[in-house]
Amino acid sequence: MDPARVLVAEDSLVVRAVLRRHLEQQGCTVVEASDGESALAACEAEDPDVVLLDIEMPGLDGHQVLTALKRDPKLRDLPVVFLSGRTSTEDVVAGLALGAHDYLKKPFEPSELIARVSSAVRLKRVQDELRSRNVELDLISRTDPLTGLFNRRHLDERIQELASTSARLGVQVAVVMFDIDFFKRINDSVGHAGGDAVLKEFSCRVVAQIPADAIAGRWGGEEFLVFLPDTDDERALEVANRVRLDVADRPFSVDGGDSLPVTVSGGCATSDGTDPEGLVRMADAALYVAKESGRNRIIPSHEPTSGAIPQPG
Ligand SMILES: [Mg+2]
Repeated sequence: MDPARVLVAEDSLVVRAVLRRHLEQQGCTVVEASDGESALAACEAEDPDVVLLDIEMPGLDGHQVLTALKRDPKLRDLPVVFLSGRTSTEDVVAGLALGAHDYLKKPFEPSELIARVSSAVRLKRVQDELRSRNVELDLISRTDPLTGLFNRRHLDERIQELASTSARLGVQVAVVMFDIDFFKRINDSVGHAGGDAVLKEFSCRVVAQIPADAIAGRWGGEEFLVFLPDTDDERALEVANRVRLDVADRPFSVDGGDSLPVTVSGGCATSDGTDPEGLVRMADAALYVAKESGRNRIIPSHEPTSGAIPQPG
């Protein structure tokens, strides 16, 4: 069988020793618990693949342990095989009705023990695989396929989250909206594949210049958003200008060929987290001012006056 981690919850020392021997012969790792409470604690702490659960135990009995597992969202899918001297059909039916994966009657045949544990482990493996695929699919559904940055859907959700965290902690959150200047001209001069290469390269430069806790995404087209948790106006402007200068100072290479000068404009806004949509709108309005006042500049929303902000470099 697939070597698995098995929790043996059984009050009899002798039965535990016998189970351990059979399971270890199959390459399993065995964790033991001698009563219901420690069985529950071990389910949490030991991350078993399957639980062999005695029904008659001191303290919490097997039925109560299984009921508690089913109530815990993290543990409810853990396969449980009851192991009991109660062998009537009613007992077996009652155990399965509580959500047990299987039921093994004492005294058991070793081959049957192994077969039933193996089947539970296979179920656990399939569940784990599905869970990790779901995580992967969720990530794909939040990722912009061209740039690998987060997409608008994810940004919309994160700004709500970030805003409420900021409001709770009493700190500011900053948003920078970037827009690559004259992107249509870039597409016209180097073609759409070249334009895509510019978007990808721009994304890499953004990620390289922003702090590790910042969240960067593609808002749409050539527009990008960066969220900066716990960041004030001054710091947001500094980060945004770092991106702007990195773009302006090093021409982009398209298809390893000619170097293409690119510039970016940006608007930034900060808030205490009370109005997340308003925050994005403010950054967008500041971006508009940056475009109108000559491009290749960052304008903070609290002072959206054309030409009022000295731009370093
Ligand atoms: Mg017992």
